[in-house]
Amino acid sequence: MSAGGTVCLMYHEIQLPGRKLCDSDPGYAKYAVSITSFREQMQFLKDSGTPGINISQLLSSPGNGVALTFDDGCETDLITATPLLKELGFSATFYITVGFLGNRGFMSKQQVRGLVQSGMEIGCHSLSHPYLTDLDEAGLRREIADAKKQLEDISGISIHHYSCPGGRWDERVVDIARQAGYESIATSEIGLNTSKTNRYSLARIAVTEEVTLTQFRRLCSGSGLWSKGLKSGGLKIAKRMMGNSAYNRVRSVLLKDS
Ligand SMILES: [Zn+2]
Repeated sequence: MSAGGTVCLMYHEIQLPGRKLCDSDPGYAKYAVSITSFREQMQFLKDSGTPGINISQLLSSPGNGVALTFDDGCETDLITATPLLKELGFSATFYITVGFLGNRGFMSKQQVRGLVQSGMEIGCHSLSHPYLTDLDEAGLRREIADAKKQLEDISGISIHHYSCPGGRWDERVVDIARQAGYESIATSEIGLNTSKTNRYSLARIAVTEEVTLTQFRRLCSGSGLWSKGLKSGGLKIAKRMMGNSAYNRVRSVLLKDS
Protein backbone atom coordinates (compact mmCIF):
# COMPACT_ATOMS: atom_id res chain seq x y z
CA MET A 1 0.00 0.00 0.00
CA SER A 2 2.78 2.39 0.91
CA ALA A 3 5.48 3.09 -1.66
CA GLY A 4 8.10 2.50 1.05
CA GLY A 5 7.11 -1.10 1.76
CA THR A 6 4.41 -3.28 3.26
CA VAL A 7 2.83 -2.63 6.62
CA CYS A 8 2.33 -5.68 8.80
CA LEU A 9 -0.22 -5.29 11.57
CA MET A 10 -0.23 -7.27 14.82
CA TYR A 11 -3.50 -8.06 16.56
CA HIS A 12 -4.27 -10.14 19.63
CA GLU A 13 -7.63 -11.13 21.12
CA ILE A 14 -10.74 -9.43 19.74
CA GLN A 15 -12.94 -7.99 22.46
CA LEU A 16 -16.60 -9.03 22.27
CA PRO A 17 -19.44 -7.50 24.32
CA GLY A 18 -20.18 -9.61 27.40
CA ARG A 19 -17.20 -11.90 26.91
CA LYS A 20 -14.33 -12.04 29.39
CA LEU A 21 -10.87 -11.57 27.95
CA CYS A 22 -8.29 -14.35 28.37
CA ASP A 23 -6.47 -12.11 30.85
CA SER A 24 -7.86 -9.15 32.79
CA ASP A 25 -4.47 -7.47 33.29
CA PRO A 26 -4.53 -3.90 31.86
CA GLY A 27 -1.24 -4.58 30.04
CA TYR A 28 -3.01 -7.42 28.21
CA ALA A 29 -6.38 -5.71 27.75
CA LYS A 30 -4.83 -2.75 25.94
CA TYR A 31 -4.00 -5.09 23.05
CA ALA A 32 -7.57 -6.43 22.78
CA VAL A 33 -9.23 -4.48 19.95
CA SER A 34 -13.04 -4.35 20.10
CA ILE A 35 -15.05 -6.09 17.41
CA THR A 36 -16.48 -2.69 16.38
CA SER A 37 -13.03 -1.18 15.79
CA PHE A 38 -11.74 -4.32 14.11
CA ARG A 39 -14.71 -4.39 11.71
CA GLU A 40 -14.23 -0.68 10.89
CA GLN A 41 -10.51 -1.19 10.27
CA MET A 42 -11.04 -4.16 7.96
CA GLN A 43 -13.84 -2.35 6.11
CA PHE A 44 -11.53 0.63 5.62
CA LEU A 45 -8.91 -1.64 4.02
CA LYS A 46 -11.57 -3.19 1.80
CA ASP A 47 -12.98 0.20 0.74
CA SER A 48 -9.52 1.53 -0.06
CA GLY A 49 -8.76 -1.48 -2.28
CA THR A 50 -6.04 -2.79 0.06
CA PRO A 51 -6.26 -6.54 0.57
CA GLY A 52 -5.45 -8.08 3.94
CA ILE A 53 -2.77 -10.67 3.25
CA ASN A 54 -0.93 -13.35 5.21
CA ILE A 55 2.82 -13.66 5.85
CA SER A 56 3.44 -16.07 2.95
CA GLN A 57 1.80 -13.57 0.61
CA LEU A 58 3.84 -10.73 2.13
CA LEU A 59 7.04 -12.67 1.46
CA SER A 60 6.10 -13.65 -2.09
CA SER A 61 4.81 -10.24 -3.22
CA PRO A 62 5.76 -7.41 -0.86
CA GLY A 63 4.01 -4.14 -1.59
CA ASN A 64 0.64 -5.68 -2.32
CA GLY A 65 -1.73 -5.05 0.59
CA VAL A 66 -1.43 -4.91 4.36
CA ALA A 67 -0.31 -8.05 6.19
CA LEU A 68 -2.57 -9.10 9.06
CA THR A 69 -1.24 -11.17 11.96
CA PHE A 70 -2.73 -12.33 15.26
CA ASP A 71 -0.63 -13.50 18.21
CA ASP A 72 -1.37 -16.00 21.01
CA GLY A 73 -4.09 -18.28 19.53
CA CYS A 74 -7.21 -16.86 21.18
CA GLU A 75 -10.56 -18.39 20.33
CA THR A 76 -11.67 -15.10 18.75
CA ASP A 77 -9.15 -15.84 15.96
CA LEU A 78 -11.54 -18.49 14.70
CA ILE A 79 -14.97 -17.38 15.88
CA THR A 80 -14.65 -13.63 15.24
CA ALA A 81 -11.76 -12.60 13.01
CA THR A 82 -11.89 -15.46 10.49
CA PRO A 83 -15.56 -15.08 9.42
CA LEU A 84 -15.07 -11.35 8.86
CA LEU A 85 -11.79 -11.81 6.97
CA LYS A 86 -13.38 -14.46 4.76
CA GLU A 87 -16.37 -12.24 4.05
CA LEU A 88 -13.99 -9.54 2.80
CA GLY A 89 -11.82 -11.97 0.84
CA PHE A 90 -8.81 -11.37 3.11
CA SER A 91 -6.27 -13.74 4.59
CA ALA A 92 -4.14 -13.49 7.75
CA THR A 93 -1.51 -15.40 9.71
CA PHE A 94 -2.50 -16.61 13.18
CA TYR A 95 0.49 -17.31 15.44
CA ILE A 96 -0.40 -19.92 18.04
CA THR A 97 1.07 -20.45 21.52
CA VAL A 98 0.91 -24.25 21.57
CA GLY A 99 0.84 -24.62 25.38
CA PHE A 100 -2.18 -22.29 25.66
CA LEU A 101 -4.43 -24.47 23.49
CA GLY A 102 -7.44 -25.67 25.47
CA ASN A 103 -7.14 -22.95 28.16
CA ARG A 104 -10.15 -20.70 28.73
CA GLY A 105 -10.48 -18.18 25.91
CA PHE A 106 -7.91 -19.89 23.70
CA MET A 107 -8.57 -22.26 20.81
CA SER A 108 -8.79 -26.01 21.25
CA LYS A 109 -6.66 -28.29 19.09
CA GLN A 110 -9.73 -29.03 17.01
CA GLN A 111 -10.34 -25.31 16.48
CA VAL A 112 -6.77 -24.97 15.18
CA ARG A 113 -7.64 -27.56 12.55
CA GLY A 114 -10.80 -25.58 11.82
CA LEU A 115 -8.72 -22.45 11.27
CA VAL A 116 -6.53 -24.32 8.78
CA GLN A 117 -9.59 -25.75 7.01
CA SER A 118 -11.02 -22.25 6.68
CA GLY A 119 -8.01 -21.36 4.52
CA MET A 120 -6.25 -19.10 7.03
CA GLU A 121 -2.50 -19.39 7.59
CA ILE A 122 -1.13 -20.44 10.96
CA GLY A 123 2.30 -19.91 12.48
CA CYS A 124 3.97 -20.69 15.78
CA HIS A 125 4.23 -18.32 18.78
CA SER A 126 6.25 -20.66 21.10
CA LEU A 127 5.17 -23.34 23.56
CA SER A 128 4.76 -21.38 26.78
CA HIS A 129 5.19 -17.70 25.81
CA PRO A 130 8.47 -16.86 27.61
CA TYR A 131 10.74 -13.97 26.67
CA LEU A 132 13.12 -15.81 24.36
CA THR A 133 16.05 -13.59 25.29
CA ASP A 134 15.85 -14.98 28.86
CA LEU A 135 16.35 -18.60 27.72
CA ASP A 136 19.41 -20.80 27.32
CA GLU A 137 19.90 -22.83 24.16
CA ALA A 138 17.89 -25.85 25.37
CA GLY A 139 15.03 -23.53 26.26
CA LEU A 140 15.16 -21.87 22.87
CA ARG A 141 15.06 -25.25 21.11
CA ARG A 142 12.02 -26.25 23.14
CA GLU A 143 10.14 -23.00 22.47
CA ILE A 144 11.06 -22.74 18.78
CA ALA A 145 11.81 -26.21 17.32
CA ASP A 146 9.74 -28.48 19.62
CA ALA A 147 6.82 -26.05 19.43
CA LYS A 148 6.93 -26.26 15.62
CA LYS A 149 6.83 -30.05 15.69
CA GLN A 150 3.93 -30.10 18.15
CA LEU A 151 1.93 -27.57 16.13
CA GLU A 152 2.53 -29.61 12.99
CA ASP A 153 1.22 -32.73 14.74
CA ILE A 154 -1.85 -30.85 15.95
CA SER A 155 -2.64 -29.08 12.68
CA GLY A 156 -1.54 -31.74 10.20
CA ILE A 157 0.35 -29.19 8.07
CA SER A 158 3.90 -27.85 8.02
CA ILE A 159 4.55 -24.61 9.85
CA HIS A 160 6.78 -22.02 8.19
CA HIS A 161 6.42 -18.87 10.25
CA TYR A 162 7.26 -17.85 13.83
CA SER A 163 6.49 -14.78 15.92
CA CYS A 164 8.39 -13.87 19.10
CA PRO A 165 6.52 -13.62 22.42
CA GLY A 166 6.72 -10.04 23.67
CA GLY A 167 8.69 -9.18 20.54
CA ARG A 168 12.00 -10.24 22.21
CA TRP A 169 14.55 -11.85 19.93
CA ASP A 170 18.27 -12.07 19.28
CA GLU A 171 20.61 -13.78 16.82
CA ARG A 172 20.37 -17.11 18.69
CA VAL A 173 16.61 -17.08 18.04
CA VAL A 174 17.23 -16.54 14.34
CA ASP A 175 19.82 -19.34 14.15
CA ILE A 176 17.62 -21.89 15.89
CA ALA A 177 14.54 -20.91 13.89
CA ARG A 178 16.47 -21.31 10.64
CA GLN A 179 17.79 -24.71 11.71
CA ALA A 180 14.26 -25.79 12.65
CA GLY A 181 13.11 -24.94 9.13
CA TYR A 182 11.18 -21.74 9.66
CA GLU A 183 11.08 -19.33 6.73
CA SER A 184 10.33 -16.16 8.64
CA ILE A 185 10.25 -14.52 12.07
CA ALA A 186 7.89 -11.68 12.92
CA THR A 187 9.09 -9.26 15.60
CA SER A 188 7.56 -6.10 17.07
CA GLU A 189 10.18 -3.85 15.52
CA ILE A 190 8.32 -0.88 14.06
CA GLY A 191 8.77 -0.22 10.36
CA LEU A 192 7.84 -1.21 6.82
CA ASN A 193 8.78 -4.47 5.10
CA THR A 194 10.44 -4.17 1.71
CA SER A 195 11.99 -6.73 -0.62
CA LYS A 196 15.27 -5.95 1.19
CA THR A 197 13.89 -6.65 4.68
CA ASN A 198 15.41 -9.67 6.39
CA ARG A 199 12.60 -12.23 6.55
CA TYR A 200 13.94 -13.37 9.95
CA SER A 201 13.13 -9.99 11.50
CA LEU A 202 9.91 -8.77 9.92
CA ALA A 203 8.61 -5.49 11.30
CA ARG A 204 5.11 -5.32 12.76
CA ILE A 205 2.89 -2.61 14.17
CA ALA A 206 0.67 -3.44 17.14
CA VAL A 207 -2.93 -2.30 16.82
CA THR A 208 -4.05 -1.44 20.34
CA GLU A 209 -7.61 -0.87 21.52
CA GLU A 210 -7.27 2.92 21.66
CA VAL A 211 -6.18 3.32 18.01
CA THR A 212 -8.74 5.52 16.23
CA LEU A 213 -9.72 4.99 12.61
CA THR A 214 -7.75 8.10 11.64
CA GLN A 215 -4.65 6.74 13.35
CA PHE A 216 -5.27 3.35 11.76
CA ARG A 217 -5.41 4.94 8.32
CA ARG A 218 -2.08 6.67 8.97
CA LEU A 219 -0.46 3.48 10.21
CA CYS A 220 -1.60 1.57 7.13
CA SER A 221 -0.14 4.21 4.83
CA GLY A 222 3.19 3.85 6.61
CA SER A 223 3.10 7.38 7.99
CA GLY A 224 3.12 8.06 11.72
CA LEU A 225 5.67 5.28 12.14
CA TRP A 226 8.38 7.81 12.77
CA SER A 227 7.03 8.87 16.17
CA LYS A 228 6.12 5.29 17.06
CA GLY A 229 9.60 4.16 16.05
CA LEU A 230 11.16 6.92 18.13
CA LYS A 231 9.25 5.75 21.15
CA SER A 232 10.22 2.16 20.50
CA GLY A 233 13.86 3.24 20.11
CA GLY A 234 13.66 4.75 23.58
CA LEU A 235 12.18 1.52 24.85
CA LYS A 236 14.99 -0.52 23.35
CA ILE A 237 17.53 1.55 25.25
CA ALA A 238 15.49 1.05 28.42
CA LYS A 239 15.38 -2.68 27.73
CA ARG A 240 19.17 -2.84 27.42
CA MET A 241 19.66 -0.98 30.68
CA MET A 242 17.16 -2.90 32.78
CA GLY A 243 16.13 -6.51 33.26
CA ASN A 244 12.93 -7.73 31.58
CA SER A 245 10.75 -7.33 34.67
CA ALA A 246 11.79 -3.73 35.36
CA TYR A 247 11.42 -3.02 31.65
CA ASN A 248 7.85 -4.34 31.74
CA ARG A 249 6.92 -1.89 34.46
CA VAL A 250 8.11 1.18 32.54
CA ARG A 251 6.90 -0.09 29.20
CA SER A 252 3.22 0.31 30.01
CA VAL A 253 3.86 3.87 31.18
CA LEU A 254 5.88 4.83 28.11
CA LEU A 255 3.42 3.31 25.66
CA LYS A 256 0.33 4.81 27.25
CA ASP A 257 -0.28 7.33 24.48
CA SER A 258 1.21 5.46 21.53
ZN1 LIG B 1 2.08 -13.17 22.54
